Amino acid sequence: MPKFDKPIVRYALVILTVSLFACGDDDDTVTDTSPADTSVADTSEDTSAADTEVVDTSTVDTGSPPATAVVDPTLFLVDGLATAITEVECMLSDGSTAQCYSITTNSVPSDHESGPWCPTQITDGPEAGGIWPEGGVAHDVDGAFVENLATFYDDPAWEMYNADGSINFTETAEECAAAARPDVDPELQNHCVQCLPEYVETDLQITFVIPKEPSLAATPQDIRGNMGVAFNGVEFAAAAPTDAILGAYTLAPFDDCGGHINLNAGYHYHAITSDCLTEVAQDDGHAPLIGYAMDGFGIYAMLDADGEEPDDLDGCRGHTDGVRGYHYHVSGAGENMIIGCHAGLTVQSGRPPRP
Ligand SMILES: [Zn+2]
Ligand SMILES: [Zn+2]
Repeated sequence: MPKFDKPIVRYALVILTVSLFACGDDDDTVTDTSPADTSVADTSEDTSAADTEVVDTSTVDTGSPPATAVVDPTLFLVDGLATAITEVECMLSDGSTAQCYSITTNSVPSDHESGPWCPTQITDGPEAGGIWPEGGVAHDVDGAFVENLATFYDDPAWEMYNADGSINFTETAEECAAAARPDVDPELQNHCVQCLPEYVETDLQITFVIPKEPSLAATPQDIRGNMGVAFNGVEFAAAAPTDAILGAYTLAPFDDCGGHINLNAGYHYHAITSDCLTEVAQDDGHAPLIGYAMDGFGIYAMLDADGEEPDDLDGCRGHTDGVRGYHYHVSGAGENMIIGCHAGLTVQSGRPPRP
């Protein structure tokens, strides 16, 4: 069971947090400094997700009754929090003001190991590498997968391994940063890109501000910046920019828990796999709760206790029931999409009006 942490409301902290958030989350620029991926490759992650992701938002059920579930801050693991969760006043995407929780984390998973990402030899098995999404399938990035890339992608320019069977991978923080840029250093093409936890600043902090009481928006919103947050404080990220990554003949695998590291954002998830995340079981056999989206609606695992996926999900991968109100179910790990869009009001960037 998750440990509980009582939210502390202190005026000074509220002001501080609001100020930090206001400075750090500007949706209007490509260099979004929100906790989303902000290294260059992952900057394109934000824009590519917004520009190229084809999401059918036409079927979002915005006529549903109000949600019955509110955000429960006690579900977050204390070990994942950089500071105690606070309540802040916030401005929502429709211009209204609301009460929000401000959740500041280190984006380091305290409930599971991270890595590995890249195998080092073409003889390596699946335990030596992570996963890579393609065609709706989460492929094991093992030695054979790397050896077979030219065939897999039908392009002879893929040559990520050498005559002795060794695989090219980023081996330093500098190489990680250079390979994560859109204009990948030519010397780092045909490298498996991995950024290790020790490359990330130890004082990295990420603040998620989410409405206490979620409400549906008039129209669903594309995911910009963060998608949501897991109970361990790790970010659920928008889609990884796989076109840019593959265009440079690189791979940036996720580990077997669906996450990888960006020097500016730390560890973050692009896929949800089983048996990694802290879950909150549901008494009625519904899929477990694994975290919250930035609009405050709950994010649940894909499958219920019977192994069934809901068949009435909208384009955001949400639906409504009488217990949980509106909520999301994650997609498969090979989809490079955890949920499709935000059906609810998110927190608008900028400072809320003075009281
Ligand atoms: Zn990423
Ligand atoms: Zn459901």
